[in-house]
Amino acid sequence: MCGIVGYIGNRDAYPILIKGLHRLEYRGYDSAGIALINKENELSVYKTKGRVQDLEEFSKSKDITGNIGIAHTRWATHGEPNNVNAHPHYSQSESLALIHNGIIENYAVIKKELLQKGYTFQSSTDTEVLVQLIEYIKSTNQCDLFTAVQLALNQVVGAYAIAVLERGNPNCIIAARKSSPLVIGIGDDEFFLGSDASPIVEYTNKVIYLDDEEIAIIERGKTEPKIVTISNVQKTHKIKELEMNLSQLEKGGFSHFMLKEIFEQPETLKNCMSGRVNQEATNVILSGIIDHKEKFLEAKRILIIACGTSWHAGLIGEYLIEEFCRIPVEVEYSSEFRYRNPVINSTDIVIAISQSGETADTLAAVELARKAGAFVYGVCNVVGSSIPRNTDSGSYTHCGPEIGVASTKAFTAQVMVLTMIALTLANQKGTIKQEEYEGILKELLLIPNKIEKILALNEQIKQLASIFTYAHNFIYLGRGFSYPVALEGALKLKEISYIHAEGYPAAEMKHGPIALIDNEMPIVAIASDNAIHEKIVSNIQEIKARKGRVIAIISEGDTEIKSMADHCIEIPKTKECLSPLLSCIPLQLLAYHIAVTKNRDVDMPRNLAKSVTVE
Ligand code: GLU
Repeated sequence: MCGIVGYIGNRDAYPILIKGLHRLEYRGYDSAGIALINKENELSVYKTKGRVQDLEEFSKSKDITGNIGIAHTRWATHGEPNNVNAHPHYSQSESLALIHNGIIENYAVIKKELLQKGYTFQSSTDTEVLVQLIEYIKSTNQCDLFTAVQLALNQVVGAYAIAVLERGNPNCIIAARKSSPLVIGIGDDEFFLGSDASPIVEYTNKVIYLDDEEIAIIERGKTEPKIVTISNVQKTHKIKELEMNLSQLEKGGFSHFMLKEIFEQPETLKNCMSGRVNQEATNVILSGIIDHKEKFLEAKRILIIACGTSWHAGLIGEYLIEEFCRIPVEVEYSSEFRYRNPVINSTDIVIAISQSGETADTLAAVELARKAGAFVYGVCNVVGSSIPRNTDSGSYTHCGPEIGVASTKAFTAQVMVLTMIALTLANQKGTIKQEEYEGILKELLLIPNKIEKILALNEQIKQLASIFTYAHNFIYLGRGFSYPVALEGALKLKEISYIHAEGYPAAEMKHGPIALIDNEMPIVAIASDNAIHEKIVSNIQEIKARKGRVIAIISEGDTEIKSMADHCIEIPKTKECLSPLLSCIPLQLLAYHIAVTKNRDVDMPRNLAKSVTVE
């Protein structure tokens, strides 16, 4: 959450910073701000509540010259989203400006001490405390900015990615991180900073990912940043090459990133399988598993930890792994797992799922599991992010940058990776018959084409969406593999349309939720490819008997449900274990079109941000 950008070089910093903020806006959009040092070595801060566009408007009449600057787009944790709480924050004397992603947990204690020393505070953020502390340390110790930042960070508890500028010092940015991501781009005579690589990729593909508790001194005229830990150990980093390209960060003719990403899924799933499932459909190999085969074969239990949409993918993973590998699986919310003293054994495998690879709770849960001796496997999308760097092994989802805040293509790619994990492991353990194994692989290779067919229903789904914009509540029902899909469908709708929606296992209806049904309540029944088809038919009957309005996702040719439901979306048949990869697609489109019809900001829904790097 929150986007950080920085630039130092020979070009005008302002346009680079603004463009960078636009690329990072998915991470937070409560407010935006910028700090620049001009030719006269003056340090100026411009900031405003609202979007990056508002900042551009606000800065029009201002001095935006200078070839060094930092910029921020906020997702508020401490203090309401207003002009004063926007970043950058000045220090008391306005000689320093700082941007921050994360939470300074002991800010209240530090603030109290600084207040006693005569410091005053403009904002109610935790961040302002840090910039004041740096200034206080700098003036009392008579030290340079780097040393002051280093000493200050030693007093701080919490998570931070920061960048600091100093008036009269146009040749240096100090940046540091702990538990929040920060990437340094290395160009010719110029450096870039970003919360991720998206503001950098246009200018250079050479990057360094800072590690926790590292401070970078980024100086004009140097070829590389100097990196030192907060306990003063010098570090050398390998320069990495970015895999990302610019077109992946643009909408490519679609009206929203979310729609683009929904339509990318045939391609992203092909990429995800590429080099893993062979074209003859006789084998799937995930090297992350094969390289640690013994660990996996000895595993007594698998724990899956994740948040949000990734947690739904994890539930599908549970069904797949238990079905094919006969290993007990538990799926946990990372935020609960890390604080509830869970039982973790050295014979456990922990699978951590996170699109960004930076999800704060999942990262902390990973650390907990590793300390307890478990083998930890990451399933992430962003290459080089914190979770892949802190796990024993893993698989990337390879679906390219996901910018829409509501996850779509990352979800299907996570489900695809979990399917490949289950199949690779089952094959190694011998818990799946060769015929079944090859049958599923054959079907897996057909999934991208079948998704194409579902995407062709876009217009039909758009029409359907227009009928249901009146609704204040939705219920999503599924059984077996379709139950996590029901949860995910409901979450998509909530996130972007602000309509209240709940997912339930269909048979649970009669234990309470059926009381909600009346002739206005839309019920989305995920009823494709189900071994207990007749059970879901009965559940739909029960709803129809109470006059609920049923939208059913059915397999092509299912005349039985078609005759009962108010509306049907027919999707290609597949194997039940692969059905989530298809049945979630119409639900993504339904949520999208309902939100668009209701005039919602689909790519940047209120109160949300992508990449949840705060607890
Ligand atoms: N805690 C800081 C604030 O509320 C930073 C939040 C962020 O990461 O955007 O301003």
